Amino acid sequence: MTAQILDSKQLAQQIRTELKQKIYDSQITPELAVIIVGNDPASEIYVRSKEKACQEVGIKVETYRLTQDISAEELKELIDLLNNDRNINGILVQLPLPKHINPQEILTRIKPEKDVDGFHPLNTGLIIQKQPAAFSPCTPKGILRLIHTVKQDLSGLNAVIIGRSQIVGLPVSHLLLNENCTVTIAHSKTKNLSEICKKADILIASVGKAEFITGEFIKPEAIVIDVGINRTSNGIKGDVKFAEAYEKAAYITPVPGGVGPMTIAMLLENTYEAFFKQNHS
Ligand code: NAP
Repeated sequence: MTAQILDSKQLAQQIRTELKQKIYDSQITPELAVIIVGNDPASEIYVRSKEKACQEVGIKVETYRLTQDISAEELKELIDLLNNDRNINGILVQLPLPKHINPQEILTRIKPEKDVDGFHPLNTGLIIQKQPAAFSPCTPKGILRLIHTVKQDLSGLNAVIIGRSQIVGLPVSHLLLNENCTVTIAHSKTKNLSEICKKADILIASVGKAEFITGEFIKPEAIVIDVGINRTSNGIKGDVKFAEAYEKAAYITPVPGGVGPMTIAMLLENTYEAFFKQNHS
């Protein structure tokens, strides 16, 4: 038995098409401000994809390209300006930031109602409290949407998340807990990782190590979500050794193409929702 590929490209495209129609029908123009600091090539690529996706669905995007040596205070001043600009519905600060700037301090400066990336502590707290008002971070939200295409009721399933980052591991754990999964969060100090993973009905790898999860980690018939994007001499690889996991899992995401398109689709959706939160509440 081999796995069915969970290819998010099609789902992401469907979400984008529907969003484009909704924006057109409502005769609105949501607006997103994107801030990029320095000239990290990977960040440039991500920002360009986000700009293109926004333009396609009718979201206006204004990108602020700032030099590497900008101070935290200057960056906060720009965020304050955008927070107070009624035309701007969402603010996204592309990570990573230069080492001299504390990202948490910057992300906390964004007004929670404009925090379309879902990284503000208030939005994180609202998710933990299961409050509907929260913006879910884009990658975890996209992962849940993808899983729901093949399984609606996740209640009682064992979910193992490898990685406890603020942007993927931790929030996806809370979202799965809210779906009544039994959640285990593994990290670099976890012992007997393969034994833990073997019990996972849903296995989410967000480690950042190419092909770290081999076939022996996979429970037969599991849903395997590979978040990793690792640049190697053999091209981009996920955190999961695809060929081995493919032989055992029921569903698996490929890399590239598995989770990334959903991240962008969820950013568009959050920006659209931000417009209504600010204009109709
Ligand atoms: P991160 O902040 O570097 O976190 C990595 C996590 O993996 C940490 O919690 C770390 O544990 C854990 N870890 C490291 N070595 C481990 C080991 N040997 N055993 C078990 N756990 C281990 O990474 P991230 O931001 O979550 O990103 C992870 C990957 O996903 C990267 O490749 C990134 O590029 C990719 N990504 C993709 C998307 C997308 O849209 N597709 C979005 C975001 C990220 P400790 O906490 O103990 O250090």
